Amino acid sequence: MAEQAGQQYVMREGGQVTRGREAQTYNIMAAMAVAGSVASTLGPRGMDKMLVDSTGDIIVSNDGATILRKMDIQHPAARMIVEVAKAQDSEAGDGTTTAVLLAGELLRQAGLLTERSLHEASIIKGYQMASEKALELVKAMAVDVSAKDKAMLKKIAGTAMTGKDTDNAREFLSDMVVKCMDATMEKDANGKYYVEKKNLVLEKKTGGRVEDSRIIEGVLIDKGRVNFQMPEELKNVKVLAMDIGIEAKDTQFDAEFKIRQPGQFQQFSAMEDEQIKAQVDKIKDMGVKAVFTTKAIDDLAQHYMAKYGIIGVRRLKKSDVERVAKATGGSIVTSLDAISKDFIGTAGLIEEIKVGDDEMMLVSKCKDQKVISIILRGTTSHILDEYERGIDDALHAVQNSIIDGKIVPGGAAVEVELGMKLRQYATTIKGKEQLAIEAYANALEIVPKALANNAGLNAIDMTIALKNKHDSKKGINYGLNVYEGKAINMLEAGVVEPLRIKTQAIKSATEAACMILRIDDILAAAEVKNPAGGAPGGM
Ligand code: ADP
Ligand code: MG
Repeated sequence: MAEQAGQQYVMREGGQVTRGREAQTYNIMAAMAVAGSVASTLGPRGMDKMLVDSTGDIIVSNDGATILRKMDIQHPAARMIVEVAKAQDSEAGDGTTTAVLLAGELLRQAGLLTERSLHEASIIKGYQMASEKALELVKAMAVDVSAKDKAMLKKIAGTAMTGKDTDNAREFLSDMVVKCMDATMEKDANGKYYVEKKNLVLEKKTGGRVEDSRIIEGVLIDKGRVNFQMPEELKNVKVLAMDIGIEAKDTQFDAEFKIRQPGQFQQFSAMEDEQIKAQVDKIKDMGVKAVFTTKAIDDLAQHYMAKYGIIGVRRLKKSDVERVAKATGGSIVTSLDAISKDFIGTAGLIEEIKVGDDEMMLVSKCKDQKVISIILRGTTSHILDEYERGIDDALHAVQNSIIDGKIVPGGAAVEVELGMKLRQYATTIKGKEQLAIEAYANALEIVPKALANNAGLNAIDMTIALKNKHDSKKGINYGLNVYEGKAINMLEAGVVEPLRIKTQAIKSATEAACMILRIDDILAAAEVKNPAGGAPGGM
């Protein structure tokens, strides 16, 4: 007690100290609460969460990472679990719910062990041994996949997308994802694959059905030509991608220009017109027939451009203009005076198309065939957002499978197999760590249980059915068919996931659980009163 008083003495008044077992209980409960909040979303039959933010915006999602990001979690240990989701998302791009569930369950199991007076140090040691072993085992379970095996890649995409409201469109969307993969994967000088995100752009348009979505080789821009007198379509043309406008030069240096006589104003304005015309002429003289710019195109410039048959598209996102430059083999122009041939790109076809009620520009048949665009259609913006998250997960899953060349069966086949093998491993360990390794094995079972629960199946029956299959060597790839409530061979059923999802989930969940277990005191500083009244730094 005296020590505690001393502790508080060194901290700002109002600070809080929570110690030992009490601190640990708080932390474990917080972590479990986070895991509990996403548990019901796991798997193909998981439910969605509706999140309403402080401005009233609504998100309906099944995606663990998205849900946790939007939840604005405050408790420090709970935030460490949110970090697990973030790490999982950035390293594997999918599997966030699994990783968070595992972290929460590892802590719950640890809590049971501390109640039986097992010291944290033994738990941590045992968890680390179990995690090392689990990584070894899961790698041994993995099967090879090649970038050429499009049928398998489609299955990986399909598995990653399940549950994200995409069920009716899964076939179509997985096909699309595998096609996109060709565009986004590039090989570096050492022949290693890497992902070039810039090559892909996704435009969402409400209205229509998901089957009306399209993949387009080329750059799609969510804007039409600036002036209806400009051509609607051009073939085999030179293209400029610019970060400057076509307008009168900034007059700020000529601020001293004083108009003393009426005629002078006209003179000034004529001078500006001349300037604009000179810029358009320069573009015309280079043979350029299409201009894409981040800035403005003056009315007068539009008039001349239309007259010369040049298409102009203005006020674009920088990333769109960059994509035009990349696809057409040009470079972004920042000054018309410094322009050379190298800046000019070429396109086989430039056209204005109609998507729903909107005009869009499409630059296709380009030098760089890798740049592609997706127009995603769906009935509401919420569905479109969820489709986008599904596509994003699927793209990552396919890409990681190709980069690592390894996949594993889904439907909790991995978790059940690892659990059983870890129990065997535990019997070979003499010390107290044995108990922790068993607890680790128990924790892994949260995955089949959650999959079963979410499908309205009996979790215990299903886990036993799976374990029975895994008892024989032939059953190693058996997972849960959540639709029929039985154990099936997941490789044969085409429910497959990249190895990386599992290795990353094991690593980050173990790390976070151990980190939280090492904490025996929580020293919380007094909240700094914010004079402006705003809440101090949220997530
Ligand atoms: P996460 O955020 O962890 O990716 P998901 O909600 O995407 O969570 O669910 C992933 C889990 O669902 C994995 O265990 C995966 O193997 C399983 N799964 C996906 N498709 C199927 C399927 N068709 N049958 C059974 N399990 C599946
Ligand atoms: Mg997933």
